Amino acid sequence: MMNIIVFVKQVPDTSEVKIDSKTNNLVREGVPSIINPYDENGVEAALALRDRIGGKVTVVSMGPMQASSTLEYCLAMGADEAVLVSDRLIGGSDTLATGYTLSEVAKKIGYDLIVCGNEAIDGCTGQVGPIIAENLDIPQFTYVREVQVEADRVTVQREVGKNIEFYEAQLPALVCVLKGVNQPRRLGQTDKEVKLLRVADLDLDPAKIGNDGSPTKVVNIKMSDARAKSYVTIDDSLSAEDRIKMIINGGIEKKEKIDLWRGTAEALADRLMEHAGFNRYIV
Ligand SMILES: Cc1cc2nc3c(=O)[nH]c(=O)nc-3n(C[C@H](O)[C@H](O)[C@H](O)COP(=O)(O)OP(=O)(O)OC[C@H]3O[C@@H](n4cnc5c(N)ncnc54)[C@H](O)[C@@H]3O)c2cc1C
Repeated sequence: MMNIIVFVKQVPDTSEVKIDSKTNNLVREGVPSIINPYDENGVEAALALRDRIGGKVTVVSMGPMQASSTLEYCLAMGADEAVLVSDRLIGGSDTLATGYTLSEVAKKIGYDLIVCGNEAIDGCTGQVGPIIAENLDIPQFTYVREVQVEADRVTVQREVGKNIEFYEAQLPALVCVLKGVNQPRRLGQTDKEVKLLRVADLDLDPAKIGNDGSPTKVVNIKMSDARAKSYVTIDDSLSAEDRIKMIINGGIEKKEKIDLWRGTAEALADRLMEHAGFNRYIV
């Protein structure tokens, strides 16, 4: 039977997060928690696979006890089992410690395919999935927009800029799914319960978890300066060729270190096609 694990993170709804103007920190109080949107698409991808080829989908989250509401949401989507890893001993974990802990959980549960979100909308590092795959020494694919399984092989489509790349690998493997790649299903009724795992239930190296296992130190948090938007208007009294040049050059006539494209309209059009990747495999 195909075992699919989906790692899901509970995150603050960042559309509701405000910034404290004095400390520049996020104000999380009173902000609703939601399933990381990428992970919701990951759960949908896993459920669709299970519905097609059979097997079991286990959703797993590491976090405080309140994260069980996110797992209940996944059970209502149709996940077969849900596991919450929660313990004071894993508080303060950075991505390395989180990835280590979750890879040990995967070993305990058993897996053929592991699905993560490409990133979490609060931490946004995109590191946890790849760390889990490295720890388990299995193939990994990031920026995945579609995943299929046939027998013991997984095929994925990776979305890289405007290009789509196709890959295949032997299972077990890990995929990190992009946001919005499918339509998550409606919630149904379920009487399934979330199982709780404590550190004592896992075979963890104490030096690799929580604060002790987290080499990352947050020294300072600062808001980045908003970049001023610049708008370019193209003078429509110019010839078509000159307007194409202006568009390609972003309205810049001459600037140091910028590769200005010059030539006939045909030559510029050829160069534009090449630049946009039309000579490569795109969908
Ligand atoms: C020094 C330091 C201290 C920290 N202390 C705390 C703390 O005390 N409390 C706290 O809540 N956070 C803490 N964090 C943040 C925490 O490390 C990150 O939230 C976590 O490691 C995930 O990183 P990310 O959000 O960048 O996830 P990403 O790597 O962007 O997430 C990618 C995918 O990995 C999976 N994933 C990520 N995190 C989880 C998870 N927890 N459970 C299941 N799946 C997951 C999901 O599929 C997700 O889509 C700390 C971070 C640092 C650097």
